[in-house]
Amino acid sequence: MKKIQSLALFCGSSEGIDGRYREAAQEMGDLLFRRGVTMVYGGGNRGLMGIAAERLYSQGGRVIGVLPQILDRSDVRLRVVEEQLIVAPTMHERKARMYEMSDGFVAMAGGIGTFEEILEVFTWLQLGLHTKAVALLNTAGFYDPLLAFLRHAHAQGFIKADLLDALIVEEDPALLLDRIEGFSVNLGDKLS
Ligand code: AMP
Repeated sequence: MKKIQSLALFCGSSEGIDGRYREAAQEMGDLLFRRGVTMVYGGGNRGLMGIAAERLYSQGGRVIGVLPQILDRSDVRLRVVEEQLIVAPTMHERKARMYEMSDGFVAMAGGIGTFEEILEVFTWLQLGLHTKAVALLNTAGFYDPLLAFLRHAHAQGFIKADLLDALIVEEDPALLLDRIEGFSVNLGDKLS
């Protein structure tokens, strides 16, 4: 198993209505602390993002927030992680920084921003631009409808089976991290 130094965590800037999302974000913060993994994330204090970051940082763990300039406002910044805050000039540069700094990518429950971020790194895996793990934390089956849609796209001939198989999906955060540590991928000819 390879040692994962840092993980990008994509997750909602909202908390969601089910307390299990909050609990999962807290558990993720605890696990990253215990495993000595740095959390790279969007840099805000809101929703599940803030919950996971605060939980990890308050125990002495390492959190790197990467905010785009347009969101760099005092009411958005997570007070406790200011020392590790990187402000990127644009959204695209912000994401590029997050990807460079991370050994793998996890989406917890979230909305459009979360979907966009995880699907982009999944696209990049497909293209062979990286070989890092792409994972969905499927708290309370949150991602089941997306998984059904991805399987539908596969059945309709738009997504290859080996790409779908490469996507890590787990409901339990510890199992998810174990699978990320054991991840390897060989997608063959990506551009055909
Ligand atoms: P969403 O899932 O739509 O709530 O968006 C969350 C994702 O988009 C996070 O992973 C962040 O990278 C980014 N994002 C959305 N809102 C904010 C915010 N207020 N501050 C920082 N990043 C945000």
